[in-house]
Amino acid sequence: MSRGLTEEQVLFQATVRRLAEERIQPRAAAIDREDQFPWDLVELFREYGLLGLGMPESCGGGGADMLTTALAIEEVARVSGTASLLIAVQHLGALPIMLAGTPEQQRRFLSPVARGDHLAAFALTEPEAGSDAGAARTKAVAGGGGWRITGSKIFITHGSVAKTLVVFAATEEEGRSQGMSAFVVPVGAAGLSVGHIEDKLGIRGSETAQLQFDGVRVERDQLLGRVGEGFKIAMRTLDRSRLGIAAQALGIAQGAFDAAHAHLAERRQFGRALKEFQGLQWMLADMATKIEASRQLLYTACDVVEAAGFAIDSSADVTRMSAMAKLMASDTAMQVTTDAVQLFGGYGYIRDYPVERMMRDAKITQIYEGTNQVQRIVIFRNLPEVAP
Ligand SMILES: Cc1cc2nc3c(=O)[nH]c(=O)nc-3n(C[C@H](O)[C@H](O)[C@H](O)COP(=O)(O)OP(=O)(O)OC[C@H]3O[C@@H](n4cnc5c(N)ncnc54)[C@H](O)[C@@H]3O)c2cc1C
Repeated sequence: MSRGLTEEQVLFQATVRRLAEERIQPRAAAIDREDQFPWDLVELFREYGLLGLGMPESCGGGGADMLTTALAIEEVARVSGTASLLIAVQHLGALPIMLAGTPEQQRRFLSPVARGDHLAAFALTEPEAGSDAGAARTKAVAGGGGWRITGSKIFITHGSVAKTLVVFAATEEEGRSQGMSAFVVPVGAAGLSVGHIEDKLGIRGSETAQLQFDGVRVERDQLLGRVGEGFKIAMRTLDRSRLGIAAQALGIAQGAFDAAHAHLAERRQFGRALKEFQGLQWMLADMATKIEASRQLLYTACDVVEAAGFAIDSSADVTRMSAMAKLMASDTAMQVTTDAVQLFGGYGYIRDYPVERMMRDAKITQIYEGTNQVQRIVIFRNLPEVAP
């Protein structure tokens, strides 16, 4: 049905869908209920090469294009938002190294991530620097040929379970975003400790951690790109990783739609299947239309990002299209999952059915990797010029 999929991508999509339905769907409710990090799924994804899917083959990754990575995230998110985050955040944590790492840094830091031996995490957000990421206060103070990082990061997905962290810290006193640099820090480094693990509304089972840096020593070969290039690396990373969040949102929406569609065919009231009521048919039609529009925008955005490659220089088209894809898919996910709960009636509100979990999982896609207000700012700033 969907435009632009190669024969290979269609086959891959079917394989991941089967894996998701057979191995992940039966675990999804328990992961949410127990709020335990799913190490078994890390193993499963490692076995199937899904953790390093979009990473270079030279580092042990799958060498897949952006659309193929998005397809994997979408199919897994259709049954479990938490499980899909394992693939999306692995990609998020790897992207700064892929964008700015030297061949030697890629060999050393990217290879264990691409093989799935290390989980990766991306540590940008701080208590006083969320949407305004350039206001980060974590400092990297130069000395002895390297730096010492001090400060705290919050809301770091997989921060407590990852072994490879990319951390953004100010290398200049008053530089704001211009003075930020990116470092690869191995978890276990002296002075690095994991603080509070958040108790969340959705994507339960994924660990969202506070990280404390107390004079963590980093050497020159742990710096990605040049000193002061960190903010740029973070933004170009988000240009690409937002497509993963769009894919996650799309998968969640599709999962909720499929469940609601099946429910309407099965459930009878007033002597008829609910599916026979025109008001409900129109709801399904609107949901399906928004999902398909989100899918087409995401797949097109993947093509735009793919064509741009891994250049660290910004491209307004890449930035705008990925923000649009994330905005559209996450707003769709929130609306579709809320409607799915409505279509299930009282059953939608109880935990025996998956749609309330999907509604809770959908909400985060409008918040992380830049809230949807921030996406609108990004889209506006990157609109093509018009003649006055
Ligand atoms: C579960 C979870 C996982 C996360 N994972 C990661 C991660 O792995 N790594 C990482 O670095 N961060 C992560 N984050 C952080 C996330 O990206 C931030 O929470 C998000 O960017 C918003 O920042 P904030 O929470 O400080 O909200 P704030 O910036 O305080 O925003 C509050 C509200 O104000 C709005 N707002 C702010 N500025 C403007 C403006 N200029 N115009 C209009 N509206 C505005 C926002 O849209 C929002 O609605 C995660 C967060 C959560 C909850």
